[in-house]
Amino acid sequence: MRKTLFESLTHGPLTEPPPSRDDRALAELAASLERSARQRLGRSLAIREVDAGSCNGCELEIHALNNVFYDLERFGLRFVASPRHADVLLVTGPVTKNMREALERTYRATPDPKWVVALGDCAADGGIFAGSYAVVGGVSGVVPVDLHIRGCPPSPTEILKGLIALVDAQK
Ligand code: SF4
Repeated sequence: MRKTLFESLTHGPLTEPPPSRDDRALAELAASLERSARQRLGRSLAIREVDAGSCNGCELEIHALNNVFYDLERFGLRFVASPRHADVLLVTGPVTKNMREALERTYRATPDPKWVVALGDCAADGGIFAGSYAVVGGVSGVVPVDLHIRGCPPSPTEILKGLIALVDAQK
């Protein structure tokens, strides 16, 4: 007990440092996205993420938007479990041959008006998997794409900027 007490007095706090300026910029972007979505849709933006064959690097950045550190649901950005509840399909990865039909069916299940965002270099044109026997190619070869967000992987800030541009363009 004495040892623990001594250590707590001599060691610094174990909690994470406060968010840096970049994190505050991210929060501002999220708030801006919610404002835009509410103006255009009258509610927050519902996003269904579809992994069409990614390496999961893009998923890590998407998950970062929703983790306890960024906690962007507080700004109304919602990830939904069903395409039937979605405004946006956020598609990652090159479309593999095995996922092609699943992506087509998810697209058909999403009610109009809907937007498709191809996230990451692989979703744009196959990226490092282009030419593989196992992939069809970019997302636009399977379903219509409204916006490409490039990067390998794009950061949470870039993802938010892309979504804001998408919603702002719907005037
Ligand atoms: S763009 Fe990069 S991080 Fe995203 S799925 Fe492709 S290789 Fe992975």
